[in-house]
Amino acid sequence: MRNSIIGYPRIGGQRELKFWIEDYFKGNLSLEKLQENAKVLRKEQWSLLNNTGLDFIPSNDFSFYDGILDMAVLLNVTPDRYKSLDLNELDTYFAMARGYQGENGDVKALTMKKWFNTNYHYIVTEVDDNTEIKLNSDKLFEQYSEALADGIKTKPVIIGGFTFLKLADYTGKKKLEDFISDVVKVYGDIFTKLNELGVEWVQIDEPILVTDLNRKDIEIFTKIYTELLKNKGNLKILIQTYFGDIRDCYSEVTSLAFDGIGLDFVESKKSLELIKEKGFPKNTTLFAGIVNGKNIWKNSYEKSVTTLNEISNVVDKNDIVINTCCSLLHVPYSLKTEEKLSENHKAKLAFAEEKLIELAELKELFGEKDYLNSGKYKNNVALFVKKESNTDLEIKKNLNKLTEEDFTRLPEFKERMKIQRGFLKLPLLPTTTIGSFPQTADVKSNRAKLKKGQVTQEVYTENVKKKIEECITLQEELDFDVLVHGEFERNDMVEYFGENLNGYIFTQKGWVQSYGTRCVKPPLIWGDVSRAKSITVEYSKYAQSLTLKPVKGMLTGPVTILNWSFPREDISLKEMAFQIALAIKEEVLDLEANGINIIQIDEAALKEKLPIRRAQWHSDYLDWAIPAFRLVHSTTKATTQIHTHMCYSEFEEIVKDIDLMDADVISFEASRSKLSIIEVLNKNNFITAVGPGVYDIHSPRVPSVEEIVIAINLMLEKINIEKLWINPDCGLKTRGLEETITSLKNLVEATKKVRDAL
Ligand code: GLN
Ligand code: ZN
Repeated sequence: MRNSIIGYPRIGGQRELKFWIEDYFKGNLSLEKLQENAKVLRKEQWSLLNNTGLDFIPSNDFSFYDGILDMAVLLNVTPDRYKSLDLNELDTYFAMARGYQGENGDVKALTMKKWFNTNYHYIVTEVDDNTEIKLNSDKLFEQYSEALADGIKTKPVIIGGFTFLKLADYTGKKKLEDFISDVVKVYGDIFTKLNELGVEWVQIDEPILVTDLNRKDIEIFTKIYTELLKNKGNLKILIQTYFGDIRDCYSEVTSLAFDGIGLDFVESKKSLELIKEKGFPKNTTLFAGIVNGKNIWKNSYEKSVTTLNEISNVVDKNDIVINTCCSLLHVPYSLKTEEKLSENHKAKLAFAEEKLIELAELKELFGEKDYLNSGKYKNNVALFVKKESNTDLEIKKNLNKLTEEDFTRLPEFKERMKIQRGFLKLPLLPTTTIGSFPQTADVKSNRAKLKKGQVTQEVYTENVKKKIEECITLQEELDFDVLVHGEFERNDMVEYFGENLNGYIFTQKGWVQSYGTRCVKPPLIWGDVSRAKSITVEYSKYAQSLTLKPVKGMLTGPVTILNWSFPREDISLKEMAFQIALAIKEEVLDLEANGINIIQIDEAALKEKLPIRRAQWHSDYLDWAIPAFRLVHSTTKATTQIHTHMCYSEFEEIVKDIDLMDADVISFEASRSKLSIIEVLNKNNFITAVGPGVYDIHSPRVPSVEEIVIAINLMLEKINIEKLWINPDCGLKTRGLEETITSLKNLVEATKKVRDAL
């Protein structure tokens, strides 16, 4: 019996890598030192994995920003505009990741998208007619050698050619099909090099295989690997899938000459059915994903051993490798550094490091005949029988009382729009922001001091109010139409709400990478959720008292709160979403009663848990997710304008469902996906008023007035002027103050120019 993981987190247990990279960006850390530090981090992690007795230790899962971007560099898919900046290798890489503005030029970042159904974002590779796919970097090989020098023989991990091609953006005339032979060639070259290095196993990630595939896709996949596997030499090839099952191509995958096949038995029940129904090839190793790489609860050994036993009816025990169901990138590092969680809580949790122990124990247990009597097994089983008293009967009662009316806001959108126009009296093309303003050093230190008990709650609140005052003054000076209070009291848009809701628990260091150097710290849903006290009212009211212009109340919506938390596994997602919706609804009505006439309910992560398979979109998700949002605002007054906001996804396919959320205004991340959203809205006769972001806030680049004027005019070609809002594409909290002020100034100036020209 052996065990494996697909990948390990890389940002560092204390987010060291994030801080080093950010210091490097600021010029406070040299390139050499950055590389050196990263090397130490990798070394420590390999040795940790090695010490837990893991049989397959990954390498090349490290990245300075993103694994797909690394792959693009490895395959020489760097668009010319970045090459011609003439920067060093790493800076060219960072220019693609986050844009570049400086002596060598001015280019925007590449598009960023959600990685399947996770909150990780990858950089979308751009392929054009000049792209020459060929081997271009040594990182993959160097990192294998680096670990080997420490005596650790690793399993290098790369993204497979099919997933790579499928996720790329084709900007020229050439399409995916035109690059197949180049891909076969370049992966063949990779194999040659890996053979030369004496690599035993290579893991090729093909997560795209768990999505809906058509005949042509499957043909392309088969063609690539039929060719490629001819050149594998002594290398053993593991094709690794995750985030679901490979029902569309199971037969093809199992009839190709792979040495190992990695399947996910956690996220899809279907994987087990597939091997039972269709069998599994002899002399092939099954990497069985049974330890959850996405959630933080302890593994149930009873369930896992049952699954493993069922698998072993089909596959020889010696050919089974116990694996995680996806990379551990999606969970925090370790429970060891959690000082505040109770022992009762900790007993039920497993972060990345604890999952390594689970893998070791499962390997041991599954190898024993008499595992039922083992202490480790019994202790684990005991964790799952003890039911927590985490149910609240009052909440249950409220949920049971809900009827259709609770999900319907009246009067209808059109009528409300008229009423709100008369009531709010906003100019055409109203300007606003998405909510947060830069979290400058003083904001962070105020929060840190409160945490450490160095300032009283009163002083802390006074400081936040001072920031709100500055923020309101700034927006008035800039001449925005709808103001925000700036969200200075929030560490994070979900954790902050969680802290004010019953049923949540929190970690101190439970960071998970979201994109590049950005991490989030998802709270944990432990019990039934309800509103503990009013959450945002005091600060919103204060902000509104400082100005005659409307100030938007700022809330996070139920679906996003749920999707950015680690959910329970003992009740349904729908039930959790409705519980949270009722809690946020109380807050909405509280804000309204306190004179806040515009309320934004962010659903940044609406699309995140959309099932990967289209057939399940509605039944498993949208049929409760959209109603959960409607429940939050259904009883507001017609004069109250409800906004929502969404980021980083392709909305095309669910744009009709988004309309059914029945908000009055929605702002979208749009700039980085090249405004394609506008076309989509237009084609679908989108009803809700919209603010497709006019510039990209995920990059420090400052947009010029001209550029924004062009964006607005483009939007006006497709969107009715009465329904268009002008705003950046997301919150500004990660940006510097200076660049933000200039960008916002340009935004208002551009809007005025367009208005004047009308
Ligand atoms: N209101 C939030 C903010 O401005 C929205 C953040 C987000 O969409 N990710 O920070
Ligand atoms: Zn956003």
